[in-house]
This record gives sequence, structure tokens and C-alpha cells, in this order.
Amino acid sequence: MKKFKKETIAAKAGIGSDTQHGSIVPPLYLSSNFKYEELGKEQEYEYTRETNPSRDHLINALTQLENGLGGEILSSGMAAITLVANILNINSKVILPHDCYGGTHRLFSSLAEKGIIDAYFVNQGEESFCKKTIGEIDPDLIWIETPSNPLLQAVDVKKISKKAKACDALVAVDNTFLSPFLQNPLKLGADIVMHSTTKYINGHSDVIGGALITNNQKILSKLKFWANALGITGSPFDSYLTLRGLRTLGIRMEKHEKNAAAIVELLSTHPKINKIYYPGLPSHPSHTIAKKQQNGFGGMLSFEVLGDLAGVKNFIEGMNTLPLAASLGGFESLVSHPYTMTHGNLTPDQKKEVGISESLIRISAGLENTEDLLKLVNRGLNKI
Ligand SMILES: *Cc1c(COP(=O)(O)O)cnc(C)c1O
Repeated sequence: MKKFKKETIAAKAGIGSDTQHGSIVPPLYLSSNFKYEELGKEQEYEYTRETNPSRDHLINALTQLENGLGGEILSSGMAAITLVANILNINSKVILPHDCYGGTHRLFSSLAEKGIIDAYFVNQGEESFCKKTIGEIDPDLIWIETPSNPLLQAVDVKKISKKAKACDALVAVDNTFLSPFLQNPLKLGADIVMHSTTKYINGHSDVIGGALITNNQKILSKLKFWANALGITGSPFDSYLTLRGLRTLGIRMEKHEKNAAAIVELLSTHPKINKIYYPGLPSHPSHTIAKKQQNGFGGMLSFEVLGDLAGVKNFIEGMNTLPLAASLGGFESLVSHPYTMTHGNLTPDQKKEVGISESLIRISAGLENTEDLLKLVNRGLNKI
């Protein structure tokens, strides 16, 4: 059977699967357990911690969208990352980006402090990373997050995966920032793709959830075993809502990107703006690689305003109808200040190393009318 395009996969997921009443939308199975048809015979659904039909509709759709074999839906993005950590053996060596998501950094550095694994936080964008560092460390897992938050630096997943294969390391990619519509890491050679479905996939800022998808049967069995053993699978209701969000992901990503690009255009000629980080700009250091491995530049952008912290405060005050909040990927545009919010736990030196200054602002472009959104951003700019 020829595969459908992504929008079709999302629109058709689970449709027509109800054999009892023919409901168009698949019913929500909240039931914690299922009746055994026959003594001693294994069946698809027994107990919801392990398997559940509502969760399966979501994982089947995400598996198709990411070109995988299967996967698991977890109770949060962090639960998904925890699951990957749990399929590793004791004393495994894990390489992570030095500017990875704060929760990822906290989890792996704490596991390393307890002596369970070795964690190496490095700049994966450096020339020497593939040439030297991977070979020297000889890792068991390379964790990638591309593009990075908040500077949107991309790394070459294909190139890193090739190196990883040569030393038998697994490659897992956090694909939260782009969603399966704009990037498919398994196609680039990764073994596992991870999503915080809290962000673009659900897209309505009302569910915390996570997902892992793999194209390797052995890894899939381990993920399923540990998801059940740890008890971190996602709830049926959250899965139902997330699938509801997923149905419109394609068209939402188009608008997120359109709005982000419009804001970038407005900022790029503005005298109060110092630097803009958006991979769609040819001047962004990751423009070429983003163009090669992504299907779009996404809905996130960052920029530095003149006037340091006072400039930031004035900008945020000026556009006070957009909430100041740390999340992203929802229908609503959000403004954040990485220095004090998402990256507030880093030391000033660490912030400097990854390039996060006090004057940096991040915007998650939502689905508002483009002209209205530009008007709001302009209000902020006028206040600086
Ligand atoms: C939010 C986020 C996570 C963590 O996901 P939760 O759903 O909040 O647990 C991981 N990685 C990235 C890139 C994120 O943005």
C-alpha cells in the first residue's frame, strides 16, 4: 500500500475503527482493565498501564508520521527521556548537547552524579565533535536536540548517526521543536525519536505528554518493557486529546512558521534589535544544515534587544497582551526570557558559553492573525 502524505495520516488516524457503533472518531477507552475472553490466552488489551486502545491510536499515527516501527506514549516529555535512560546498561556513556533542554540536563547529570551512567555535555556543532570527540568517548548513546533552544542551532543528524554506528552507539533525537511535520530523524539515521507532545503535537496547551518512536524491533521491545515496568505510560484521556491536536498539526505548523517569518522580517530592519536567531535567515549559522535536513524553519525565534535587561522589560511590558511564559508550540504566541526563565538554573558562565545573554528574548509564534501579531510586537519595540 502506498503511504499517504502526513496531513492525511493525521486526519485518518483511527477513523472508522469502531466496529461496535461505527463512530467516526474513535471512542475514548478510559477503562483501567479489560475482560479476558479465555483463560490463559494472551490478548491485545488487558491492563491500561501496559496497553490501551486510545493510546494506540496516537502511537500508531506518530509511528507513521516518523517512519518508525512502533513506539510508546508517555506521561510527559521527561517520562519519555527517563524511558530512554532506563534502556541503558549501568555505566553507559552518554553524550548530550551542552545546551540541551534543562530537564534533560538535570536528569542525565543527576544520574551521572549517582554513578549510574557517565554523562558528557559537549558542543555537538563543533567540527571536532564528529572527527574526534565521538571516537574518543566511545559512547553508548548520543542524545541530540536539533534545533537547539533558544538559539536554534542545528546539528547534522545524518553525519552524527553515521559516526555513532561506527562505535555501536544509539542515537536519540529530541524532535520537539519541529514536530514530525518538519523533521524526521529516523530517516536521517537516528534510532529513536523523542517528542514532548506537550508542545506542537498537542498544540493546545492543555496536556503534558511525551512520545518515543523507533525503527528497531529490539529497542521497541525494551521501550515497551520499561514503560510498563516503570509505570510511566500516558493516560488514555491525554492520548485522546493529543490525537485531537495532532489532526491539525500540519496546517498549524504552516501558520506557526508563517507568523514566525513575519516577525523576523519586522525585526530584521528594526534599529532596536541587535541580533536575530532564526534558521530561515541566510545569516543564521545553521541555515544550510537546517535547509538540508528540515522540511521548514519552524515557529520559534529569538532576538537580542538593545538596552539589556531594561530593554527586555520595556519590550515585554509594551506587548503585554502576549503572555510571558516558558512553554512553546501552542496556538497562543508566548514570549520568554531564557536568561531568567528556561535557562535560569545555569551559572552566568554556562549561559555565556551557550550564548544566552540578558538581552535575549524568545518568541513561540502562535496562530493569531499575522497583522495583529505584528502590531503587538511593534508595541513592544516602540517601548524599548
Ligand atoms: C518541554 C520539553 C521537554 C520536556 O517535556 P515535558 O512534556 O515538559 O516533560 C523536552 N525537550 C524539549 C525540547 C522541550 O521543549
